This record gives sequence, structure tokens and C-alpha cells, in this order.
Amino acid sequence: MADIFTKKKRSEVMAAIRSRGNKATELRMAILFRAHGITGWRRQVKLRGAERGTQKGKAARMSVDFVFRRERVCVFVDGCFWHACPRHGTQPTGNRAFWKNKFARNVERDREVSRALRKAGWTVLRVWECALSRSQTARTLSRIVRALHA
Ligand SMILES: [Zn+2]
Repeated sequence: MADIFTKKKRSEVMAAIRSRGNKATELRMAILFRAHGITGWRRQVKLRGAERGTQKGKAARMSVDFVFRRERVCVFVDGCFWHACPRHGTQPTGNRAFWKNKFARNVERDREVSRALRKAGWTVLRVWECALSRSQTARTLSRIVRALHA
């Protein structure tokens, strides 16, 4: 399938899709927290991590999906598509090189952010979008609660 967009337009379109998809998943997480009486979190908090290896000179302020400040726990909700979930991260058929590169960079960025936050003393949990499905909810929430009580 040939791409109908220019490169610039494509990245704008993808950024829009990405932020929409992530918002829906984050919202689901927030609803689950409320439904299960898990409190003390804030959404989309900018945190300063330890230095970020490959991004020298850049201010290392990272946006974290959910922050439990008192417990020093960060929770990220990662979309299966964008963050290349091993079970659901299917690669689009067109423009393979572009996508392969794109996913590799996303995965690497996720790792960097986790590493920088851990260095700064945070416990970092990454939750796949698919771990919020009905059948996985209990297990996912107990994982988070365990980290909060650790
Ligand atoms: Zn998945």
C-alpha cells in the first residue's frame, strides 16, 4: 500500500492518532483506579529523571502517564501498536523499513525513560493496553497495588 501522505503530513497524522489512542487507554486506566479505590495518583505529570544517555543536553523532563508521588511509583500505559507489544504489535504491511525503524525508536525511548526514572529513584511500571482488557484487569491492578505497597 503506497502512502497517500507526504512524510511531514504522515507524521502529523500519526501523532494525532497516537495521542488519541493513548488517551483512550489512559482513560480506561483512570476509570479502573477509581472503580477499585486506588487513589493518590495524578495524570500526565512531568518528572525530572536522571540523565538520559543519548539525549545529552536536553532537559530530561519526561511526561509520565500516572504518578503516585508519595509511593514514588510511575505507571505508563503503553498502546500495543505503538509500543510494539510482543503479542499484538503487528507491523503494517506498507513501508516496512519506516515502521520497523519507528517501532524500534519507540521501544528504545520507552527503555530510556524507564531507566532515567529508575535512576532518579522511581519505581516504574509499564502496563500494556491489552493488560487492561476485562480478563486481565484483576492481575494488572494487583501488580500495581503490590508496587504501591512495596
Ligand atoms: Zn498487547
